[in-house]
This record gives sequence, structure tokens and C-alpha cells, in this order.
Amino acid sequence: RSELMDKIASLCKRRGFIFQDSEIYGGQNGFWDYGPLGTELKRNVREAWWQDMIARHDPLDAPEGAPHAFQMVGVETTIIMNPQVWKASGHFDLFVDKMVDCKAAKKRYRHDHVYGRWITGKRKSKEGESDPIRVFVTAVGDKPEIEAQALAFFGLKKKYADRLEWESDVINLTEIPVEDYGIVVAPEATETGTLTAPRDFNLMFKTIIGALGTVEDTAYLRPETAQGIFVNFKNVVDSSRVKLPLGICQVGKSFRNEITPRHFTFRSREFEQMEIEFFCSPDESQEWYTYWRNRRYSWYIELGIPEEKLILREHHKDELAHYSVGTADIEYAFPFLIEGEYGELEGVAHRGDFDLRSHMEGKLKATDEGTLEVELNEHGQPKYRGSGKDLTYFDDQTRERFIPHVVEPSAGADRATLAFICEAYHEDKQPDDKGNMQTRVVMKFHPRLAPIKAAVFPLVKKDGQPEKAKEVFRSLKSAGLNVTYDEQGAIGRRYRRQDEIGTPWCITIDGDTLEQGTVTIRDRDSLEQVLVKVEDVTDEILRRLR
Ligand code: ATP
Repeated sequence: RSELMDKIASLCKRRGFIFQDSEIYGGQNGFWDYGPLGTELKRNVREAWWQDMIARHDPLDAPEGAPHAFQMVGVETTIIMNPQVWKASGHFDLFVDKMVDCKAAKKRYRHDHVYGRWITGKRKSKEGESDPIRVFVTAVGDKPEIEAQALAFFGLKKKYADRLEWESDVINLTEIPVEDYGIVVAPEATETGTLTAPRDFNLMFKTIIGALGTVEDTAYLRPETAQGIFVNFKNVVDSSRVKLPLGICQVGKSFRNEITPRHFTFRSREFEQMEIEFFCSPDESQEWYTYWRNRRYSWYIELGIPEEKLILREHHKDELAHYSVGTADIEYAFPFLIEGEYGELEGVAHRGDFDLRSHMEGKLKATDEGTLEVELNEHGQPKYRGSGKDLTYFDDQTRERFIPHVVEPSAGADRATLAFICEAYHEDKQPDDKGNMQTRVVMKFHPRLAPIKAAVFPLVKKDGQPEKAKEVFRSLKSAGLNVTYDEQGAIGRRYRRQDEIGTPWCITIDGDTLEQGTVTIRDRDSLEQVLVKVEDVTDEILRRLR
């Protein structure tokens, strides 16, 4: 599987999909640039999301599975917001990862900083399941490395490696006889003596506003686009003649100072999100949660991710944020993960009234009874103020006023793009121009996502064929299609070049075009060639794209 990932990463660089950021200066961990083809691909991912969620959404009729009709609108808000936003939302205090320096790992890997993450393990045996035990494992290297350390931490023999079941960051230890446990080392990692004490590390990037640059001028790059939507909820409702249920959507950059960026673009420090905040009445929120979970899952399938590689994973009760009634992750079997493990593409969360209430009243915390209340400081004042603005909604049908509940489908544009790239990669055997069987690399992108929709070739560079081919090329271009023209090299090689970047159709102009007015359209996946009248080519490609 990792060999496959190497091939995919090398194709991405070779053909200009994804480059390391600032590569000529040695790059930067956790930052990636998109080349010409990657830029087109990612644009198409974003565009497919925008078209399917907003532009083509019919607000007059309930889509299949929806309780009733609803509206969807977009906003574009700033990356740097008033710092109070992050205090009220809880990010300032709580958007943290645990960071622990591991002296042993530092020595071993000669890194200045070696960080890791907490995992929770449960011992399972005939007697039942133990309470969860939290241990810290350094995350240098990949899963096998972490697993080896987890085994060591749990004092287990190597032969049980395949009994470790990964579930997100939780390791379940299944069917391992109790007598085979060693001494469980370090329920608190500090006791091992090799790790410094765990520290909270806030993942928000800091910046300074203005020329003076005092501490009071500290601001943050947003770690999610969602807050820009919440703080504009009232503006949108007051200005747009919209009614609930209502989805407000945004696509944009987010930034997280991830402790361990890895797996190509999967965990980056700068990335793009595509988020929907769906506001509805509390009575209906559970139904809407189910609707959005299913609808977002289907979206990936429609764009070519096969069902057997995509799971909808409901969070367990103890995984849920304190305000959430339900959260499901849409996860894909990325090739860099071990067999049976999945990586998150999108989280769909039922967030109750947590967000709007926080921005009205101030930072909230959960009480022992499981309700929410404003967190107070030592003077009995709200620890972090909300806006004090009324963000309730008045339903003129039911004559009721309430704080809307929110269902949030939050997707990552880069993770989706990476999943579509991984899924597209195929190798098969095809004869070359001399009839010898050769390995063909073909990127089977869904035509809507393919960076280039069609390539136009004159068979030979004479007899008026290039002129005719250029006419076809320009006709396709003027229909707004991203197409390419190529007259270099043998026709078979030109096909291969397009297969490798996922162009769904190649259009060849030959002698028949000039004599009988026909061109051949070759299909990337079936390799089928059909004859089409030259004047119908553009319509035919447009038809196939619909
Ligand atoms: P993870 O558990 O993988 O860190 P998360 O649960 O923190 O992700 P959310 O806060 O729910 O992620 O963000 C929503 C989406 O944003 C994720 O499903 C993912 O697609 C994307 N995303 C989050 N963090 C990153 C990142 N560091 N790099 C790329 N995409 C990301």
C-alpha cells in the first residue's frame, strides 16, 4: 500500500498536480502547492461542491430524503477575525493538542523536537474489558512504528501486533490473554522518565495586527471557516429574505499548527475547508442531521469513490464533544493507511445551539448535569464575553422564538482532492504503437473532476489536419471547456500522456475528417472509439459532461 502511495506522490510531482511548498528552499513540513493540473482538479472539486450544495440547489422542493424544502446561500468571510470570536467559541482555551517531548526518541531520531499523541487502550479479556488506559506514543515514523511503541507501552509481545485494532486514535486490544500482558508502563507518560510533562499546545497560528505589535494586538489565523458563518448568521437572515431551515456555506483557507503534519496533503498546516452550517428549529434538528449525513456520504460516491472504500462512522458517546448530540465521520480507505483503517474526509456534526449561544452569551462549558452554562472567571464574570447580540430567530409561521440548532457538514477540499487522486490511480497493460504490451498509468477521474476534459490531436502534421484540429479545439474552448491540443509524437504516446493525467476523451482528426467530416472520440476507460460528425463534437462532449 505504501508503494502505491509512493507512485501516486511521484505522479503528482511529475505531472504537476502537487509540489512541496517552497521546494527550491527545501520545502516546509505541512505546506503544499498545487501545480497547473492540481489547481484545475481542486477547482473542480470545489466547484462540484458549490454547484451541488448551493448553485443548483432547488429551494422550492424538498430533495429526496429531506423533511422539507430549504434554502442554501454562500458567504466569504475573513481569515483573521476579531480575536474575541475565538475566545467565545472556545478555540482560544480548548483548541489544543497535547505536546510531549520524548528524550529517548529525540536521541534516537536526532530531531530537535519529537512529538507524539495520546492513545487510549483498553485491555480485553475473558473477564471483560478494562477501563481505558491512556499512554503517550511518539509519532515519529508511521503506523507500524507507533504500533511497535504501543505494544511496548502495553507491555505486550510482538506476536500480538495484529490484534491491535485502530479506531481513530484509540487502540483496542482484542482477545489477548491477561497473562500475556507485561507490566503496563506509564498510564501517565511522565512516569517513564523519558518524556517531559505533557503541555497543551494551541493549534491556532498567531499573528499581529497593526504597526505597534503589542500583545493586545495578537490575532489568529482561523482554524476553521465555520465561525465566519456563525458571526454573520444575523446579517444573512436580516439581509437576504431567507427563512429557516437555511444552510450558509463557505469555502476557504484554514490554518492549524499541526504537531505532526503527515501523509502528503492529508494533514497539512494550511488547507481549505468546504463547510455548511445548517440552521434549523430544535424540533427538527435530528432529522436534518440524518439527512445531511446521508447526503454528504452519497456525494463522494457520485463522484467516483466506491462504497466499499468509504465508511460513515458514527462517533461513540464518549467521543462526542459535550454539546454534540451526534457526529458522524465520512472516512476513506487512503492507501497510506494500514488495511482496515480509514482517514476522515468530512465530519457531520449535530451541534445543538452551542455556537450561536456562545456568540450571544460567552464561552460555554458543560455542567455535571450535561447542560451548558457560561463559564465564569474568579470575579463571577463570564470568562470570555459573547457579543451580547440577539441571535435568536422568530418563526412567523409557528410564532415561536428560538436559538436555531446547527447541523454542520465540514469537509476538507484538500483531503477530498487527495482521495479522488488516490482513487483515480490505475495501472493496466495496453499495446504500444509497435504492438508491445506496456504498463499504462491511467487516472480515472470522474469527468466532472478531470483537470482537462478533452485533448484534440491531428493524426498527422499535414494535409490540412492541424488546421481542422485547431478549429475543433477552439470550438471546445469557446464552450468554456478546459481542453488541450497536441500534435507531438506518435498517436499512442499522445493517448498515454492524456491517460496519465486523467483526460476522459481524446478527439482525433484524420483523413476521414477532411473527406467525410467525421472525427473519432476515444474513451479513456473503455478505450472505445466512436465516430462523430465534426460539427457535433462540442455538443457531444458537453452532453457527456452532463
Ligand atoms: P482530524 O481528526 O483528522 O485532525 P478534525 O476532526 O480535527 O480532523 P475538523 O475540525 O472536523 O477535523 O475539520 C473538518 C475537515 O477539515 C476534516 O474532515 C478534514 O477534511 C479537514 N481538515 C482538518 N484538519 C486538516 C488538516 N490538518 N489538513 C487537511 N485537512 C484538514
